Amino acid sequence: MNTEAPVLSLIIPVYNEEPSLRELYERITTTLEGLGQPYEVITVDDGSRDGSLELLRSFRGQDKRWRVVRLSRNFGQSAAIYAGFSRARGDYILMIDADLQVFPEDIPLLYEKLADGCDMVSGWRVNRHDSLFRKGTSRLLNRYTEHITGFQIHDHGCSLKGFRRPLVEHMLQFSHRCRYLPVDAAMLGGRMEEVPVRHAERRHGASKYGLFKLFRTGFDMVTSVTIMPLQMIGLLGALCALAGFAMGLRVLYIRLLYGNLQQVESVIAAFFFLSGMQLMVTGLMCEYVGRIYIEAQKKPLYIIQEELE
Ligand code: UDP
Ligand code: MG
Repeated sequence: MNTEAPVLSLIIPVYNEEPSLRELYERITTTLEGLGQPYEVITVDDGSRDGSLELLRSFRGQDKRWRVVRLSRNFGQSAAIYAGFSRARGDYILMIDADLQVFPEDIPLLYEKLADGCDMVSGWRVNRHDSLFRKGTSRLLNRYTEHITGFQIHDHGCSLKGFRRPLVEHMLQFSHRCRYLPVDAAMLGGRMEEVPVRHAERRHGASKYGLFKLFRTGFDMVTSVTIMPLQMIGLLGALCALAGFAMGLRVLYIRLLYGNLQQVESVIAAFFFLSGMQLMVTGLMCEYVGRIYIEAQKKPLYIIQEELE
């Protein structure tokens, strides 16, 4: 068994995946041994309540290249991966899901790209086996990620990804708490490629992303990179105030022309105008709160790829 310093680190977030783990262990071991590079597998137990942790421990007992990081509770997939990143020692750091929906056998495709000089490589589930709803929402999130990061790849959400070590070190320096890894990674820049990978239906258990969690993840993603939702408040206020103002003009026009005072209409106009103004002021405050939020994240302003001395 090869226990030299690892060249390759594979991170696996695990949350209640007991039925898949034995097969995962075997398929990963066969694949990674085939690569002929020293490796380590860092499994991160994200607060599992089934027998996952015991199984992971037993893998460690069998093979010292398998390591177990156990989180104190369920923190979510992204947090688990970051915890794995913080422990990885390899030059190439890859990640894969534990549920065997993506194939461990495709890892060498990603490894080749990294060894070839890519900074980041992402799998692209060409033939994805998930519900129509999932595929639809992913499509939206993909377009959005593309829009804010400027990286045009098909499948930002694919959990089979690989990075060169410096990229991971940069990501570990981010201090914002709401994290959506595909966006963080894509924002770093560098040479990024994608490779088509296989995808299968989940054989055991159910996806950990129910409707609420999907919504939450999408919301986190939008709010972690932009303050656009806060800015919308001001815009809404401006529209309301404008509508109120227009109604006020109409009341005034009727009063001057026909001399009759329209009581209800005046009240409605004043209501729109005042609530609009209030929302605008709130929006202005949100601008400042948003800036504090962005500053507090302490994201690096730029990433230096290489220096020639
Ligand atoms: N996962 C995790 N913590 C969570 C949710 C998921 O560590 O809170 C792990 C899960 O065990 C799996 C991977 O993240 O290895 C992807 O989860 P899942 O298959 O449910 O996501 P989907 O394939 O539906 O996107
Ligand atoms: Mg899955």
